[in-house]
Amino acid sequence: MRKGKINVQTENIFPIIKKFLYSDHEIFLRELVSNAVDATQKLKTLASMGDFKGEMGDTHIEIKLDPKAKTLTVSDKGIGMTAEEIEKYINQIAFSSAEEWIEKAKSAGEDNGIIGHFGLGFYSSFMVAKKVEIFTRSWKDDAQPVKWECEGNPEFSIGDAEKTERGTDVVLHIADDSEEFLEESRVLSLLNKYCKFLPVEIIFGTEKETKKEKDEKGEEKDVTIEKPRVINNTKPAWTQRPTDLSEEDYKSFYRELYPTTFEEPLFNIHLNVDYPFNLTGILYFPKVKQNFEVQKDKIQLYSNQVFVTDSVEGIVPDFLTLLHGVLDSPDIPLNVSRSFLQSDSNVKKISGHITKKVSDKLEELFKNNREDFEKKWDDIKIFIQYGMISDEKFKERARKYCLLKNVDGKFFTFDEYKTHIKNSQTDKDKKLVHIYTTNKEEQHSFIESAKERGYDVLLMETPIDSHFINMLETTLEDTSFVRVDADVTEKLIKKEEELPSKLTDEQKDKLKELVEKQLEDKSYQVSFENLSESDQPMIITQPEFMRRMKDMSALGGMSYMGNMPDSYNLVVNANHPLVANVLEQEDESSQGKIVSQMIDLALLAKNMLKGEKLTAFVKRSVDLL
Ligand code: ADP
Repeated sequence: MRKGKINVQTENIFPIIKKFLYSDHEIFLRELVSNAVDATQKLKTLASMGDFKGEMGDTHIEIKLDPKAKTLTVSDKGIGMTAEEIEKYINQIAFSSAEEWIEKAKSAGEDNGIIGHFGLGFYSSFMVAKKVEIFTRSWKDDAQPVKWECEGNPEFSIGDAEKTERGTDVVLHIADDSEEFLEESRVLSLLNKYCKFLPVEIIFGTEKETKKEKDEKGEEKDVTIEKPRVINNTKPAWTQRPTDLSEEDYKSFYRELYPTTFEEPLFNIHLNVDYPFNLTGILYFPKVKQNFEVQKDKIQLYSNQVFVTDSVEGIVPDFLTLLHGVLDSPDIPLNVSRSFLQSDSNVKKISGHITKKVSDKLEELFKNNREDFEKKWDDIKIFIQYGMISDEKFKERARKYCLLKNVDGKFFTFDEYKTHIKNSQTDKDKKLVHIYTTNKEEQHSFIESAKERGYDVLLMETPIDSHFINMLETTLEDTSFVRVDADVTEKLIKKEEELPSKLTDEQKDKLKELVEKQLEDKSYQVSFENLSESDQPMIITQPEFMRRMKDMSALGGMSYMGNMPDSYNLVVNANHPLVANVLEQEDESSQGKIVSQMIDLALLAKNMLKGEKLTAFVKRSVDLL
C-alpha cells in the first residue's frame, strides 16, 4: 500500500462536497452508474476497433446493498483502470474537475436550478459516504488489479488488490446521516428515476416471476422463480429509427414513461436532429385539461440516455411544456444556471427547432386528415391557442391550421371563416364582426336571435379564449369580436340603416322613469333602441370591453379586475307594442306590474332570475293571466 495526498489547490473540498446541494445528494448514484456505463461502452468500442480481442462476456452493471456492512457497491465489467490510470483519472483529473465544479456552483449562488445535475462526477460519492474503495482490474492483458481507498479527506491510499474479473467495483461505506441509501426501496426508486433508459443492462436485487410449468404428471402448475431484477430498457424508442417503430410501439413507450397515466396520447412527434446540434426525442400530445398547470413538467430531459431533469423550463418555450415525452441532447449545457440557459444560443436554436417540428406535425395532420384533426380539436385547441398567444413564430405558422368552431359544431380556418361571414357580418366601417358565445346554454336566446338574423356564432368557452380573441383582433385585419349578448342583436353589427322610433322623446323620458323605479339593481344603464317588433321588449346586455377584461383577469394577470362588479345595460325596445302599451294603463300600479314583468322576462332570458325574484315572477305571471 502506498499513501498519497490528493493535490489540493484551494482548500479541503470534502466538507464542501458533503454540504453542497442537500436535495441533490441522490445524484451520486447516477454519477457512479454513468461512469460504469461509460467504462462498458469504451470496452465495446475497443472490441469493435479490434484492440480488445478477449471475451466480452456478460457486461451488465450490478448495484448491491449490504445493510450489515453498510455498503453500496456499483460493479461493472468495463475497461477498468490500471494504477497509473487511477493516479491520473481519479487523483488528478476527477479531483480537479470536482474542484472546478464546486467553484462554479458556489459562484452561481441562489440561481442553481440545474446546477448540480451534472459534472461533480466520481467525487459526488463523498456526499453520502464516509469511505470509498475502488477495486479495479484493467482490460489489458496481465493487468495488476488495484485497490484505491479514501476516507473523505485529501489523503488516499493505493495498492494491489485481489480481483479476478475485469472491471471496477466502487464500494461506498455509507455515512451515518445517509443511511436512507441502504434501503432497497430508496435505491430502487433512484435507479428508476435516473437509470431507466441507460444503454447497458443494470441489475439490482431480484424479483419474483410466476410461470406455468408442467410437473411429472403432466399437470400445469404455477412456479415462482427468483430472477435478477433488470432496471432499464437499453433501447428506448427515441433512440430507434422512426421507420422501425409502429404506432403501438410509441404508445407502449408512453406507458413506460408514465406508468400511472391511463389516458392515451393523441399523437406524437419523433425528433431527430444532428446538425447544428444533437437532439433526439419523442414528444406526445396529451389530452389537455382545462387546468393545465397540473400537466406541466412532464417532459423528461436526458443527456445520452441519462436522466437529467423533468423541469425543461427555459429549454423549450412555455406552451410546449404542456407536451409530454423525452428530449435527449448532449448539447444542452447542463451545469449552468437557468438564466444562462435561457440566453444560450444553442438552447435558443433547439427551442426554435422544436417549435417548428411541432407546428409541421400539426400542419401535416391538418392537411392529410382534416376530419380526424377536427375530432381532436377540442383536445389540442388550448395548446395551439396558448402557442399562438405566446410565440410570434408559432402564431404565423399556426394561422394555416388553427380552427374556429361555431355553435353548430362546424369548423373553419380563419380564411374560410372570413368568406363565410363576409356578406352578412361586415359593418358600416368595413370591419368583419365575429360574434361568439362563452356559454351556449346561458346565452341561448341571444344565439337564437343572432341566428335568425343570419349571423354565425362562434364557440369560445374556455378561459384562454378571451386572450385568444384579443390576439386575433390585433392579428387579423379589420376584425372585431363581440359576445352575442354584448348588445341587442340588431346593434351587434352596426349597419347604416336605422328604424324610426314609434315613441316620442317625452314618452321615452316617462318610460325611463318607470323602468328605473322598478329596477332593483340601480347599477343598470337604461337606454332605448329602435328595434323591430319581433325583437324582445326589453333585453339585458353586457358591454364587450369590461366583460372581456374581467374574463381575462380570471386567468391571471390583473387580479384587481376580478373584484369589479359586472356591468349591465337594460335596453328597451322603443318599437315593441307592449312597451307603448305601458303608457296606456290608467294607474301606476298596473304600469309598474307590466314593467316589472318585462324586466323579469329579460333577466330570465339571460338566466339571471333566481330565488325570491323568480318566485315573485311566477306569482305575478299567474295573476296577469
Ligand atoms: P467524468 O466521468 O465526468 O469524466 P468522473 O469524476 O466521474 O468524471 O470520473 C473521472 C474518470 O475516472 C473518468 O473519466 C474515467 O476515466 C475514470 N473512471 C471513473 N469511474 C470508472 C469506472 N467505473 N471504470 C473505469 N474508469 C472509471
